[in-house]
Amino acid sequence: MVLEAETCGAGPSGRNGGFCHGYWAAIASLRDVLGDDGALEVARVAERIVPAAPAQDEAVERAVEAARALGVEEEAAPLSREELAERIRSPVFRKGVFFRDGATVQPARLVQALRRAVLRGAELYERAPVTRIEPGVLRTPRGRVRAPEIVVAANAWMTGWRPLRGRVTNFGSYVVLTEPVPELLERIGWTGGEAVVDGRMFLHYFRTTNDGRVLMGSGSGPIGFGGRVDERFTRDRPTAARAAAGLRRLLPELAEARLERAWGGPIDVSSDHLPFFGTVPGARIHYGAGYSGHGVGPSWLGGQILASLATGRDDEWTSLPLATRRVPRLPPEPLTRIGGGLVRAAIMACEAAEEEERRPPLPARLVAELPRLVGMQIGTR
Ligand SMILES: Cc1cc2nc3c(=O)[nH]c(=O)nc-3n(C[C@H](O)[C@H](O)[C@H](O)COP(=O)(O)OP(=O)(O)OC[C@H]3O[C@@H](n4cnc5c(N)ncnc54)[C@H](O)[C@@H]3O)c2cc1C
Repeated sequence: MVLEAETCGAGPSGRNGGFCHGYWAAIASLRDVLGDDGALEVARVAERIVPAAPAQDEAVERAVEAARALGVEEEAAPLSREELAERIRSPVFRKGVFFRDGATVQPARLVQALRRAVLRGAELYERAPVTRIEPGVLRTPRGRVRAPEIVVAANAWMTGWRPLRGRVTNFGSYVVLTEPVPELLERIGWTGGEAVVDGRMFLHYFRTTNDGRVLMGSGSGPIGFGGRVDERFTRDRPTAARAAAGLRRLLPELAEARLERAWGGPIDVSSDHLPFFGTVPGARIHYGAGYSGHGVGPSWLGGQILASLATGRDDEWTSLPLATRRVPRLPPEPLTRIGGGLVRAAIMACEAAEEEERRPPLPARLVAELPRLVGMQIGTR
């Protein structure tokens, strides 16, 4: 039985950027967090998600180097400026790295297809928010459900849930969508449907749609407080404006493309930007969280892990490092909110300065380094 607070797709699964990928693009940080063997194991198994499956230069180089060091250089192919221009032309792109394990989806259609699949084999109750979780019992305003095995998969809404306290926090991610501009896409040679991200910490992510629009996202939205999912994740105009500014800066040839839509949602960020899965000690309550804004593909992996946990299997999914590791804790509130807010502002100042080829101010540089010094990947590159 599936209990959904609103309707299927009301959460970010129905309104994300549609980037669907495994973990090769994150191979450098995966290596830092899980070690060589763990990184290779997770990245290899994540291939099954998609069947067939100057300051920012460092992000490109780190990915290429990590893949080379792990003996899988074909997974992170460096692209020179000329090679990059064969896929997409922009005066600000200097080089790139190509990961073959990516794809794009129309997220709302994917959710609808998943919903239909659920209805073939399970009961689905929408507008049925779970208000309390106890071992074996779920409470909703419409009644109680007895369930020997419980899976909690509520993404950003789990941040305030006691078993996960201190292990995830919420940030906002926002996108803007242009009118159809297929002729402009032809002009910059971006006709192959590539999904692109830049090397920022608060990254820009951009893709085309089948009808020739461009979606540009910015992961620089506000930080939540105490697990509340409120308006700052859907109505933050400055973050939507940053996505729009990113479009104009990164793809100046699209200057005349009118923006038709803008929207945002919460992402559940773990301290090392990787998801984690497990079972509440002493109870048959299983959870997965921490997709950190990259859950479209990885939630398929999460589904395999949670299915194995809920059916008591001990298999290739439950032995993955994502299901066995201990996630470093975040600082307690209000430190996460206040410290995180300062670090976010400092990183944004550094990234803006670097893009304008200015030296970032010293205080901003120092604050931006803080999380890395305490071993966290939040807010650092
Ligand atoms: C603007 C934006 C763009 C993004 N772009 C990308 C992208 O391009 N690629 C990518 O990989 N990831 C992207 N993400 C992140 C991605 O959308 C998520 O990681 C992914 O959708 C998580 O899926 P989920 O099923 O875990 O969570 P969700 O889709 O959030 O589903 C959680 C569900 O739980 C329900 N719920 C909450 N509380 C309760 C309760 N008490 N009882 C019952 N139900 C409850 C919610 O209503 C919701 O439907 C983006 C996110 C945003 C906001």
